[in-house]
Order: sequence, then C-alpha cells, then structure tokens
Amino acid sequence: MTGVAEILSLSGIKKHYAKNAGRVVVRAVDGVSLAIRRGETLGIAGESGCGKSTLARIALRLIDPTEGAVRFEGKDITRLGPRKLLPVRRSVQAIFQDPLSSFNSLMTIRQIMREPFDTHGIQPEGGFEARVRQLLEDVGLGLIDLNKRPGEFSGGQLQRIAIARAMALEPELIVADEPTSALDPAIQAQIVNVLLRLQRKKNVAYMVISHDLDVLGHISDQLAIMYLGVVVEIGPGPALMRGPLHPYTQALLSAAPRIGGPRVTENFS
Ligand code: ADP
Ligand code: MG
Repeated sequence: MTGVAEILSLSGIKKHYAKNAGRVVVRAVDGVSLAIRRGETLGIAGESGCGKSTLARIALRLIDPTEGAVRFEGKDITRLGPRKLLPVRRSVQAIFQDPLSSFNSLMTIRQIMREPFDTHGIQPEGGFEARVRQLLEDVGLGLIDLNKRPGEFSGGQLQRIAIARAMALEPELIVADEPTSALDPAIQAQIVNVLLRLQRKKNVAYMVISHDLDVLGHISDQLAIMYLGVVVEIGPGPALMRGPLHPYTQALLSAAPRIGGPRVTENFS
C-alpha cells in the first residue's frame, strides 16, 4: 500500500499561555516544525518544562495550538471538530507516563480493552475475546485474567496493557509521552523492547518523549532536541548521539539534564 509517507506533521506550532492576568506569556512551544514518517520513530528529548508534553498533546489534538498546523496523512486537521476527528483518533493513539491514572480503576481489563472497539463501532474479526488475547499476547501478557482491575497489576504490566489498548485498532502512530519514566530501570528496557517488537511487526510509527537519551538515541530514526519551546537540533538518533552539534545537545549528553524553567516573557501590550 502506498500513501503519504508522512503520517503526521507539525508546522510552525506555537502554544502560548497567558499568566498573571495576561501580564506574562509562557511560550510553552514557540515555533516547532516536525514530521513523523510511516513506520518510523521520532524521539523528543529535552529538560523538564521545555514543551515536550505540550507538543505531544497538540499532535494528539487534545489541545489547540496558538499558531501553526497539524497535518495527518497530508490533511490539515488543526481545526477539525470531534466528529471529523474520529478517524484520526482511531489512527493516532496515546500512551502516557502513568498507566494507572490513564485507566478507570473501576473497570476490568476486559472493559478497558473493549473501549476502543466500542468508541469506534468496530467488531473485531474472529470475535472480541480472541482479538484481546492476541493483543495481550503481543505485549507479553497472554495469560492475564481479564476480570481483574488495574489496581491488581504492576506498573510494567499496566504499561503493557496500555500498549495493547493503543494497538487495538491498528493505529498508524502512537504518541508515547514518557512511557517508561515511572517504571523501574529493568522494566523500562522491557517496555522499550515491546514497543520495538510491535513496530517491526505492525509498521506503526512512534513519537516518543523520554528523558533517557541513551534509549532515544538508539531507537529514534529522527531525534529532536527541544530547549525552551523550540527544536535546537534534529537528526538520526545514533548520529546525533555520536556527534551532537548544538551546545545544548552537547550539554544534555555530557551531564544530567539541568533543571530550568520555560521561556517567560513580559507582555507589555
Ligand atoms: P515538558 O513536558 O517538556 O516538561 P510541558 O509541555 O509540560 O513541558 O510544559 C512546558 C511549559 O509550559 C512549562 O513551563 C509549563 O509550566 C507550561 N504549561 C504547560 N501547560 C500549561 C497550561 N495549561 N497553562 C499554563 N502553562 C502551561
Ligand atoms: Mg512532560
């Protein structure tokens, strides 16, 4: 199947927040253009507060940008309403840092896995139970009891369930915002491996945000380094790790990420 190679593109994205009754503008994202190609991984790194999550939420169309355009398979979706956005929502799924808070703790795993199918009115071929078993097997959880609730699973298991749910409708892209940050180091590697295995099997694209530059450098076809709301450097992950050009990337690689705030400017208008 051919199609637009770029699954998702962001052009000239800005997101500004007014603070202190409009006297201060927080430039959370301040002019970012990026594209994610079919089956590839775009990594995004940068210290806390540089705008990574804001960018992810704009890519997911959970929040509107102040400026700029979001395109899905070449089509401008920046201003689409909920109804027209539904097919995009099917194709662009999300995984967040804390799986426990992204699940309804009262629901069983069966109900959680049923949600995407119900939302999009899809009857899985071969039946729901078999499909869910397959999805869970794909993330290494073939044998779990579907009647259990999120509280009965470990963080790593929950993140696997989150991945299985995100994969349920065969998305083109998964946006993963710090998918391993809340997990033990040993478990983090397992989750990364699950994601890589699924990418090889399904040709799904990822936009992955992480603090872990070693992992991002390894898995990113393109790795973007953000600083104060802008991308200061982008390139293939391994190459960027070997020869970072921008001083900020060099600093990020040579030291633990510094803690810094966003770019805050006075608004005198
Ligand atoms: P990151 O994910 O890289 O840590 P964020 O995208 O969460 O950064 O935030 C970028 C900056 O924008 C931060 O300074 C944050 O405080 C600010 N910000 C994010 N969301 C809002 C909001 N809804 N209102 C005001 N400021 C926000
Ligand atoms: Mg964040």
